Amino acid sequence: MKSFLISFAFTLAFASCVSDVPQPVKDIGEAIGIKGKEIDEPGLEKAKWFVWSEYGETSVPPKVLIVEEKDFECQDERGHGGFCVILKDGMGCRQGYTLSPFEVSIAYYPGRSFSEVGILAHEYMHAHQSRHGVFQADHNNFQGQDWGAGGLMDRANKLLKENGL
Ligand SMILES: [Zn+2]
Repeated sequence: MKSFLISFAFTLAFASCVSDVPQPVKDIGEAIGIKGKEIDEPGLEKAKWFVWSEYGETSVPPKVLIVEEKDFECQDERGHGGFCVILKDGMGCRQGYTLSPFEVSIAYYPGRSFSEVGILAHEYMHAHQSRHGVFQADHNNFQGQDWGAGGLMDRANKLLKENGL
């Protein structure tokens, strides 16, 4: 019984991004959702350049911060693990986050390719758009030339797949 209670309490704490107990803010970036570490995962460097060039960018690709599964903090509405970020209407649980045009955070799943997961191309699209003064936090409802089917993000994932990434 005791262990059941403990695991139940843990599940609740894990699922929510909002704590009842005020937590000291160690780092403002981390507080608003910049999570992860620079880890040179297999194929990441190549994948960064493929996607960034496909988006027509010639600059150095944004830094990628990796959030490993062991560092997941929450579950989203679909039950997928992720990390807590600040969204326009409060805290949310996400697998990717882009706050600045120069840095993105992505959840990383060992053994699954960047094209299959799709988070790198997704966050890089936010970074790419922001460098051109475009901010589509709603992903334009996954319509149009950037987010829509057969659009730029899809083409970037296709390119990754063709290159085994
Ligand atoms: Zn997004």
